[in-house]
Amino acid sequence: MAAQILAGKEIAEKIKQIVKKDLEQLKTRGIVPKLVAVQVGENPSSLVYLGAQKKSCAAIGIEHEVKNLDGNVSESDLIQFIKNLNEDRTVTGIILQMPLPPSMDVRKVQSTISPEKDVEGVNPANLGWIVYGRPVLAPCTALAVKELIDSTGVNLYGKEVVMVGHSDIVGKPVALLLVDKFATVSICHIGTSDSGMLETHVSRAEILVVAVGKAHLIKGSWVKKDAIVVDVGINKLGDKIVGDVEFEVAKENASWITPVPGGVGPVTTAILLRNTVLAAKMQFLN
Ligand code: NAD
Repeated sequence: MAAQILAGKEIAEKIKQIVKKDLEQLKTRGIVPKLVAVQVGENPSSLVYLGAQKKSCAAIGIEHEVKNLDGNVSESDLIQFIKNLNEDRTVTGIILQMPLPPSMDVRKVQSTISPEKDVEGVNPANLGWIVYGRPVLAPCTALAVKELIDSTGVNLYGKEVVMVGHSDIVGKPVALLLVDKFATVSICHIGTSDSGMLETHVSRAEILVVAVGKAHLIKGSWVKKDAIVVDVGINKLGDKIVGDVEFEVAKENASWITPVPGGVGPVTTAILLRNTVLAAKMQFLN
């Protein structure tokens, strides 16, 4: 029997309904969250993301502003700009759009965002809270993966989880979030592929999460019977957007699977809104 589809849009809608209620409560106290996205130079793909951010903020009632800085801005001026936003009490959330110019130290700049305004969860303090098992403003995509898995009703205790990809904002935090629920988590990456072990690991997974960025890297035939598959990857293949997993074959083996597009993406956006409201609460209600 083919897998059930993990419909990201429905889960995102449920999250947004809760966020809306929280927002209304904040507004009765005169608090209106405002998200500022800082963009250095011009980047066409970032423009698409910014447009989507603006639209989803407007739809729910969060203020959104884009601050464009010249592509030649120095790292120290960018850091000062962020520090000014940290001090500005009308700004409750800060997003630093990627990519930054290659000369900049991305982690150094991200670490200057105030942890309480870091709605993307990229500051080391917020990443550290995940290590402590107390995620607060964690990276939106990692939280989205957890929401999608939880929505299946699966008990993570003792489950074999394979996380393919070990980025700071997806792979590593997802692995930590799941290991804290006592799943047995393996993290695979380019080294696993190069040693020829990727299929071996993937085929053991009762829960498989993939965040690589290579179209159809994971063959559908590798997917274990009744596995839950969460595909984070976004890739262009011809005129189509596809994930990292060979969906059509994988869905014949899996019990649940996310589509691409329409799986992780909408939930990530909803979590960004949730994090933005949470950040405002932390600044004004604590
Ligand atoms: P990244 O680009 O920082 O890292 C890629 C990871 O894949 C690394 O761990 C690398 O070792 C691993 N890798 C590369 N080639 C591999 C191979 N052949 N076999 C096994 N592992 C391999 O990762 P990222 O920033 O987490 O992004 C991954 C994908 O997820 C991208 O397609 C990105 O667009 C997408 N993404 C989607 C969302 C969303 O909301 N849907 C959010 C973030 C990222």
